[in-house]
Amino acid sequence: MRRAAAVGLPLLAVLALVFRQAAGPAPVGANAPAAEFSSARAKLVLQELVAEGVPHPAGTPANARIRDRIVTRFRALGYDTTVQRRFACNAAPNCAMVENIIARAPGASRNVVLMAAHYDSVGAGPGASDDLMGTAALLEVARAMRGAKLRNPVTFLITDAEERGLLGAEAFVADEALVRGAAVVVNVENRGTQGTSNMFETSAGNRWLVRHLARSLPHPAATSFSATVYDLLPNDTDVTVFKRAGIAALNFASIGGPQRYHTPLDDFANASERTLQHHGENALSMARTLSDADLDARSDDDATFFDILGFTLLWWPAKTTPWLALLSLVALMIGARKTNARAMTFGVVATFTSMLLTILGAMGIAWIARLGSDGERWAAHPQFAIASMWLTAFAAALTGAAMFRKRSDARALLFGAAIVWHAVAIALALTLPGVSYLIIVPALAAAICGLSGANETAMSAIAATAGAIVLFPIGVILYDALGSAMLPAIAIFIIVIATLVAPLFARFRNALVAAIVAIVCAVIAALLPPITREHPQHVTLAYVDDGAVPPFWTTSHVTATLGAMRFARMSTQHTPWRVMGAWSSPAPRVELPRVTLRAERRGNTVIAHIASPRNATELGLIYRGATITRVNGQTPPPRSARFRRRDSEWKFCNVSGVTEATIEMTVAGAADLIATDVSHGLPPQGAKLIAARNATPAVPSGEGDITITRARTRIQ
Ligand SMILES: [Zn+2]
Repeated sequence: MRRAAAVGLPLLAVLALVFRQAAGPAPVGANAPAAEFSSARAKLVLQELVAEGVPHPAGTPANARIRDRIVTRFRALGYDTTVQRRFACNAAPNCAMVENIIARAPGASRNVVLMAAHYDSVGAGPGASDDLMGTAALLEVARAMRGAKLRNPVTFLITDAEERGLLGAEAFVADEALVRGAAVVVNVENRGTQGTSNMFETSAGNRWLVRHLARSLPHPAATSFSATVYDLLPNDTDVTVFKRAGIAALNFASIGGPQRYHTPLDDFANASERTLQHHGENALSMARTLSDADLDARSDDDATFFDILGFTLLWWPAKTTPWLALLSLVALMIGARKTNARAMTFGVVATFTSMLLTILGAMGIAWIARLGSDGERWAAHPQFAIASMWLTAFAAALTGAAMFRKRSDARALLFGAAIVWHAVAIALALTLPGVSYLIIVPALAAAICGLSGANETAMSAIAATAGAIVLFPIGVILYDALGSAMLPAIAIFIIVIATLVAPLFARFRNALVAAIVAIVCAVIAALLPPITREHPQHVTLAYVDDGAVPPFWTTSHVTATLGAMRFARMSTQHTPWRVMGAWSSPAPRVELPRVTLRAERRGNTVIAHIASPRNATELGLIYRGATITRVNGQTPPPRSARFRRRDSEWKFCNVSGVTEATIEMTVAGAADLIATDVSHGLPPQGAKLIAARNATPAVPSGEGDITITRARTRIQ
């Protein structure tokens, strides 16, 4: 019992601190000193910006109203505020008429510190958190810094058309004069509506930036783990474009409440004031630090870094990581020299057995937990599914330890586990140094305990607690980051701690209890409703008037209530590119002027003119057999390797904020062109469909419900 308390209580204390940190810092009231960031003040700004609570994609009148409110506020604060108007394209190419807001404090124009957020939203929701919260936070930062004497000038850049493919950032970097003086950018974003403001992405060679972070952030939430994983994922924000232009970057975002992201529920009521406070503290402290720093003193190498439960940020140069792991291994070997080698070997085998059991057990139990999920990426009540993964890791570690207990002992089993984790730490230090600290921290703690001759209870408690400080935050946040499909990954992180605890409690009976509780949790997770009013399904509808086939409705998902509407798998014969939804149903003919498409061929060059007689401001071209060279006279930037990997036969080009587009392309042989124009909302005949969708309960996501007309031509 005393052993259980010695190991269990510190782990529970760490868990409590992880939950406390995950909510974000306490809001700060409107009467806070003027130099401080106050979420109460910023929230009033956010409320004014969101106002009508309507979607405001780039190029819409609603977005223009929000632009004017932001400009007015920056001007009232005394900033020299201009709107950069430019037709900009990304590499896809997607293009838009963009209006970026640029607010400068008077002063020099070298080594500019850019503070960035975007103000446009997707079509489905008002974007209160994504990213008017970032905009409101920067307005409060601008207020707090007003009139300050700075070594480096601070410029606020509120971009447009981020949701259209980072086009505001493209417009900014396309203007030589603007980008020339920019040294570093701090970006504030949200992929959700709550949780901590995580610093999750940096530019390469980040050691100097991490040093500034460590000195500045009052409640740091930053790890080289998330920075490394993010770099491996195909996700983008404006920072992707800024980094390409050679601007050093720090990117902050929250990821809590992912089901509300890009839906009508990303509204003012759901925007977390704690998240706003955390974003603001982070942005203000970085603006102050970077505007006072020597921005010419940079590093070429990276740092390995992580926060200690939000209290402080620890870091070291990434290149020293393998040496740290090796040194720790040597310490462990010295500490273990009096322990029986054969018994430790069984400890190594027990650890590998536990890892194998974790992977198999987690896949099986996650399958149970997901049984009722109805294909949703995030469940309404994921707590039991997450708990089942933690318990699976402990059940597996207890089983592994129990199997070899008779041929070993608790101390030798602990050394065996520490040897395995050192081997993993060294392998990670050489391949993914940003991730390696997750294993090095508990391994080093175990090595120091071994060297100092601590007893097995102290060694287990200290090593597991050290591991919990770095691994528990991931065990808690990973679900929001990646969703149900990645549930087993949670167990794989927790197994590190479990193998450092299990040797003290190595009984099959304990393993059985943990396994049974894990399964019970998984069954509860499966029985809980995956969809609720607060956590609705994502179902997006469209009306398509395609000249080649009769008009039809499409949906991304046939819910129980939509099932009565004669939806069938969409034929790929007429829509081989499958741009919207996988299901279609016949629709009445609505009198809509169809988009026009006129294409002229001159040798290998084809010029397509697209126009929307109904003044829809989103035009598109679906095409194959052609390469786009210019859109409305604008040459898109070169395609990155990342884009080329995603290439398929059919390609898409979207042009927003205009009612006419001229697209030039190179065509070697024959080419197929399909022009589209898109407006938001369904025609009145879709009211029944919307009611059926909303009853599930479900909400539109992404671009939201839309009406499309199409026109086709084939170039011979
Ligand atoms: Zn965003």
